Amino acid sequence: MAETHDLPWRRALGSTSLDLRRSWQATTEGLLNLLFPPRCVVCHRSGDLICSACQDEIELIRPPVCPMCGQATSAPRLCPSCRRTPLQIDGIRAVAYLEGTLRTAIHRFKYSNTRPLAAPLGRLASEYLTHNHLPADVIVPVPLHPQRLRERGYNQATLVANEIHKALDIPLMENVLIRVKSTIPQVGLNALERRENVEGAFRCTDSGLKGRSVLLVDDVCTTGATLEACSIALRQAGLRLVWGLVLARESWHQP
Ligand SMILES: [Zn+2]
Ligand SMILES: [Zn+2]
Repeated sequence: MAETHDLPWRRALGSTSLDLRRSWQATTEGLLNLLFPPRCVVCHRSGDLICSACQDEIELIRPPVCPMCGQATSAPRLCPSCRRTPLQIDGIRAVAYLEGTLRTAIHRFKYSNTRPLAAPLGRLASEYLTHNHLPADVIVPVPLHPQRLRERGYNQATLVANEIHKALDIPLMENVLIRVKSTIPQVGLNALERRENVEGAFRCTDSGLKGRSVLLVDDVCTTGATLEACSIALRQAGLRLVWGLVLARESWHQP
């Protein structure tokens, strides 16, 4: 995984063993794929983790969108929600809505330990970024609380961010943001409660990023409250632009 704080001599020393490890990983993966060909997590057809037919069913969110929260709108202007309560982030974009193929794939990715799904999901995000430029000097994944990270064993946002980093060669900084407050699940909370729940939950640990642009990466967003809380922490540390990219936006109605 990328480590942008690495010193050049450490990178030079580490590169050979890293190359060996990568080629060994690729060989092992190749052998495993031969012995146990992957099945599509949606339709269970043998071949790929997300087969091309299921992938074709993902409907990308296309313009016009609300420039702030990225929801599909009838015209490129702020949606009623962002007009009422603007988010404290430069903008959020989602590849698609959380439905069908993407809903199943993200669910498996998060809750069934299907880490290899990071590759097709990360590719989806990278392709989105190739066609929709967002300012990004560095990519920062939305952190999980350490307790959640221990339970799950991985942060799905970091895995996706790492795929974007590899595809587009944008530096990845995974420890810039830390989660300093444990929060209750956002499900069932209204917009205001969601904001209050994650308020002050994040802290930026790196003051060397002043004036830079950050692209926050997460798997799903609903009201954008979590990305906004990350953005507030990054802005307090002097970051110039903070954008958020998520794989999927959840359709959301005020409970
Ligand atoms: Zn399929
Ligand atoms: Zn909006």
